[in-house]
Formats: sequence, structure tokens, C-alpha cells
Amino acid sequence: MLLCDDGKSIFHLYAQFKRNKKPIQVKLMQIPPWFSEIRFAFSRKDDGQMSFKREKKDIVRNNRHHFLTANSLNINQLVSSELVHGVKIAIVGSDSVSTNMITISDGLVTSERGILLSTTHADCLPVVLFDRMQNVIGQAHCGWRGLQAGIISELIDTFRNHRNSKATSIQAWIGPGIGAECYTVSKDVAEKFPAQFINNTNGNLNLDLIGFARSELISNGVPTNNITLSNVCTSCQNSFSSYRRDGDGFNAMLLVTGLM
Ligand SMILES: [Zn+2]
Repeated sequence: MLLCDDGKSIFHLYAQFKRNKKPIQVKLMQIPPWFSEIRFAFSRKDDGQMSFKREKKDIVRNNRHHFLTANSLNINQLVSSELVHGVKIAIVGSDSVSTNMITISDGLVTSERGILLSTTHADCLPVVLFDRMQNVIGQAHCGWRGLQAGIISELIDTFRNHRNSKATSIQAWIGPGIGAECYTVSKDVAEKFPAQFINNTNGNLNLDLIGFARSELISNGVPTNNITLSNVCTSCQNSFSSYRRDGDGFNAMLLVTGLM
């Protein structure tokens, strides 16, 4: 699959151009070179609601179908997460796709081809891990609750237990999420994180969730050089969905990954 630097397939952008006959603005989103070795797609606000919790099932299924087809991905290979905002990681395989299975989890791991992992996001960070040595891929929805409760170590432990992965062989991507400058939190939340990730400006407490996720990867043994940040703040960039900016009517975005 050909990818633009914002992660959308070239075919998808071309179809959009043909439809709207207007120039397309491509927002730069950093993606690592190893994305050429995996399947990957990340929907945007305009792709519609991707969460079954937030819209009628047939509408969501239709949105997902359009989005995946535009990215040359097959909806019949999709495994979904119904988020619990905790640290639950599910290992999935071919038995999980037969029913378009929805797992109750915040993250998914697979070592099988023909499986597409998916989680939904709007401000909460998408984190993708890939170990090409052991042929295993995983992703998680990382909000402050999950990160604070150790979802990154859970994800890495799952790689270790499932496929004997070494943290030093794991590549990591922290995708679009809410940036520190836009993420004001309550004193209660701020106190749960090390002071270095809290910025206090005239009593406004801002949490650097991306910085914290990165430090969690590093403290769990992932080499600094293996970590790529997307450098996109969902609240600042309008084409992405942001719960903080859009309120309760936000369109959850779908992150999809899989082995080639
Ligand atoms: Zn921002």
C-alpha cells in the first residue's frame, strides 16, 4: 500500500480530489520507515464516526467499510476493541475475525497475518508497537488513566510473553493525541504524574501525555532511537478529532494496523 506522509493512502487522497475537485491539504504526520512493513491506516474527523458506542451500528459499520476500502483494507479482517480505559490487552488471531469480533480491551496484539487490529481515538494517544524479529504487532488506546495504570508495560509484557520479544527489538510509534499545550487537567489528575510532565502556568496545570508515554516506553527498555512521535496535536489540527475541542459530538477516529 502506498502511503502519503500523513498516513493516508495515495488512492484515498486521489479519490477525495476527484470527488471534491479542490486542492487537498496534506497535514504532515510523522510516520516511521517501518510503516512500510506493516498495514496501517488512521481515519480523520471527515471519515465519520468510528465508535460503536457513539452512533448506530449500521452507520459506524458503513463508515468503517468506506474508510477501509479506500485504504485497500478488508473489513472482514478487522478485530475491534471496546475500550475499558484500563490496561487490558487482548491477543487475537484468526478465530477472532470470523465474527468481526469486538474484544473488551484497550489494546490488541497479534502475530498472525490477515488480522487487522483496531482501536478508536480522539485525544487519547494511539501507540503502535512492532517487533519484526518475532513478527508481532500491537496497538493500544492510551489515555491518562491507562498510561498511569501502566498500559505501556502491559503491552510490552504481552509481546514478551506471547512471542518472546525483547524490548530492545521493539519499534514504537506514538500517534496523534492531545499535546501538552492543549491538555489542561485537574489537580487530582496532575498529582498522579511525575512533576516533570506537568507544566504549571498561573495555576493552569498542563499534562504532557505524549512525553509520559515516551518515558514509559524508554523505562520499559525500548531504545530511544526506536520511538517515533507523530508530532500532531489532535486539538490544534482541525482535520483530526478532539474530545477536548469538539465536545461530546466528536467523531472517534479509527487506528488500524496489521502484519503484511
Ligand atoms: Zn494542541
